[in-house]
Amino acid sequence: MGRVCLVPVALDAQRCGYALGQSRKVVMSYVFAPSPIPSVPVAGRTQRFPVHRVYCVGRNYEEHAKEMGFTGREPPFFFTKPADAIVPAEPGETITLAYPSLTRNLHHEVELVVAIGNGGANIRAADAHHHIFGYAVGLDMTRRDLQNDMKKQGRPWCVGKAHDASAPIGTITPVAQAGEVGSAALWLQVNGIDRQRSHIGQLIWNIGEVIEHLSAAWTLQPGDLIFTGTPEGVGAVVPGDLMTCGIDGLVGLEVRVA
Ligand code: MN
Repeated sequence: MGRVCLVPVALDAQRCGYALGQSRKVVMSYVFAPSPIPSVPVAGRTQRFPVHRVYCVGRNYEEHAKEMGFTGREPPFFFTKPADAIVPAEPGETITLAYPSLTRNLHHEVELVVAIGNGGANIRAADAHHHIFGYAVGLDMTRRDLQNDMKKQGRPWCVGKAHDASAPIGTITPVAQAGEVGSAALWLQVNGIDRQRSHIGQLIWNIGEVIEHLSAAWTLQPGDLIFTGTPEGVGAVVPGDLMTCGIDGLVGLEVRVA
């Protein structure tokens, strides 16, 4: 029943629990076929970006913090989604997103996603750019009713934030082709009407600062994605809605709710 995989030791020794240098090849067999590695297309390349983890920043735009009932600058805080919660859009593709279970209030949050190419711990903001592979447009889809229930009860947000298919993401644009992302406009329209429109310069904690704080708490790895937070204007979508999302200089993202 088990599937046999040949794994190059230098790359995968730790993951397989073998000591480095023990042998040239490790023959692994699993009780069932492992899940495929989630991955995102990269603009201009045939190779894909393999996803390790998905980190998200909470309340990182002032006007969004206000609309959620908070004021003032607080230290950045983080939550995560499973890597296989991503729904990657192939270039030119409109993703179809099934309306998720348990909710009656599914919200869109358009966000800049930072794709980490070089890992590290305790990265300083000034050095953060050495660790970035590229950028993408992403959606932190949120079951707001469930998130609010969890908040009220002081419980984790997972059921509101980390559900299946909660992280649609567009094609990654490598840094060299991405232009000045730090001052780019970002927007989201539903059925052609503006819902969210801001710019990356409005981030409370900028990209470098996010990486500094995040890498103090977790060792970043190549393949990590960071959803950097959403601006004001979050709101509900219903089946049939078309979300059109963009950030200047990056490949756009279109999602149809089914
Ligand atoms: Mn968010």
